[in-house]
Amino acid sequence: MSNLHKIVIVGGGAGGLELATQLGNTLGKSNKAKITLVDQKLTHIWKPLLHEIAAGTLNPHAEETNYFAHASKHYYEFVLGSFIEIDRATKQIVLETTHLSKPDPIQKNIRLDYDTLIIAVGSTSNDFNTEGVKQHCHFLDSRKQADVFQQDLLHLYLEAQNHETTRALNIAIIGAGATGIELAAELFQAKQTFFKYGLNKIDPKNVTIAVIEAADRILPALSETIAQHSSHQLAQFGIRVLTQHRVAKVDADKVYFADGSAIDAELKVWAAGIKAPAVLEKLTGFEKDNIHRLKVYATLQTLSDPNIFAFGDCAHCQPTADETVLGPRAQVASQQASFLVGAMKARIQGKSQPMFKFSDKGSLVSLSHNKAVGELLGQVNVQGFLAKSMYVSLYRLHQAAIHGYAHAGLLTAKNFVTRKTGPKIKLH
Ligand SMILES: Cc1cc2nc3c(=O)[nH]c(=O)nc-3n(C[C@H](O)[C@H](O)[C@H](O)COP(=O)(O)OP(=O)(O)OC[C@H]3O[C@@H](n4cnc5c(N)ncnc54)[C@H](O)[C@@H]3O)c2cc1C
Repeated sequence: MSNLHKIVIVGGGAGGLELATQLGNTLGKSNKAKITLVDQKLTHIWKPLLHEIAAGTLNPHAEETNYFAHASKHYYEFVLGSFIEIDRATKQIVLETTHLSKPDPIQKNIRLDYDTLIIAVGSTSNDFNTEGVKQHCHFLDSRKQADVFQQDLLHLYLEAQNHETTRALNIAIIGAGATGIELAAELFQAKQTFFKYGLNKIDPKNVTIAVIEAADRILPALSETIAQHSSHQLAQFGIRVLTQHRVAKVDADKVYFADGSAIDAELKVWAAGIKAPAVLEKLTGFEKDNIHRLKVYATLQTLSDPNIFAFGDCAHCQPTADETVLGPRAQVASQQASFLVGAMKARIQGKSQPMFKFSDKGSLVSLSHNKAVGELLGQVNVQGFLAKSMYVSLYRLHQAAIHGYAHAGLLTAKNFVTRKTGPKIKLH
């Protein structure tokens, strides 16, 4: 058995896959450590694309990365399984694996040894136990959920084609953070494209898209300026914005508010807040915050175990006392992944652990295919096509981090051709 230091990363998302790639290409390739990545899925898709997949304006198959194939090129091992537990006494994690043998799938638990464990399992939507949300709302936490929404939307249009008369469609998005706003703008684009392609029994004029927010303005985590520019653009799209509206209940046809009023909504998406995945909620012996994120020091080591790190959406990280807790953003996960490469090198050389510093490069909100608004370095306002190009370049940087610049360049070219030649919306 190898004496190499075993680094196990759980979660191959925006942060975890960048980390596995960079550690594989350095410590893995030079045989200084054994790098293992665990994920519950076979393929990676960058989470900030999910609203485009849901609206059908992006083909997910073109954007997926298969973990096994990727691992074989980047000197790490991939293990498919769902992380369910940590045995800190034996330094092992427990994974639930499913073998699809006929006639019944077999569930089996396996154990993986670690010297250093890095948890990057992301986050899921927080419905705050609001009545009816689980049963009647869509969520955008995974590729599968985005696909389900896309199929439901498409089938509403296909079904409407069988009728003589046109019909209306009411969509409600609960939560006016970046996810909710970006989805609303994408759905505005989708409704025009369906009509253009002849699916005309749902007239765009009869499609209402409402974005609902409990706070007194949209994009509460971003600056006032970005919120104002976005509001203006949403108004131009005819998207209804309901701020200071706290959702009390949802059923099959309506969204009900705390003040007793309600709006009609056939399709509903819950995008109001996050919490750590259920596996972290169940984990015992760790310090967590009120949404079950693991509390970490500025070294990204958990407060409870120096051999266990956490980063990205699932970590509660406040690098210094005068900073706020870092938000659930791809930018944070990506910077922490790069930081952990250096931290892991220091660790296996027995050096002291460095401290993570977050450098906020700004925020961009995509408002459909050729528009975005944002603020760079907290000061410079960008809008329109320039902002959209910068927004797209964030994804290109992620692709470069996991595939290298040459490969990412080819993917950009392929994407350009596909977008130019293919339909503007997924119709299957
Ligand atoms: C629609 C949408 C739009 C967004 N837009 C932006 C944006 O414009 N800019 C921005 O900065 N951020 C954006 N975000 C937020 C961003 O996607 C997250 O902050 C980022 O993905 C966090 O990265 P992560 O690595 O922590 O987690 P994730 O990227 O969510 O990855 C988590 C990984 O862990 C795996 N996993 C989970 N549980 C287990 C388990 N038990 N066992 C094994 N594997 C597991 C998952 O399969 C997944 O691969 C958006 C999010 C959404 C939903």
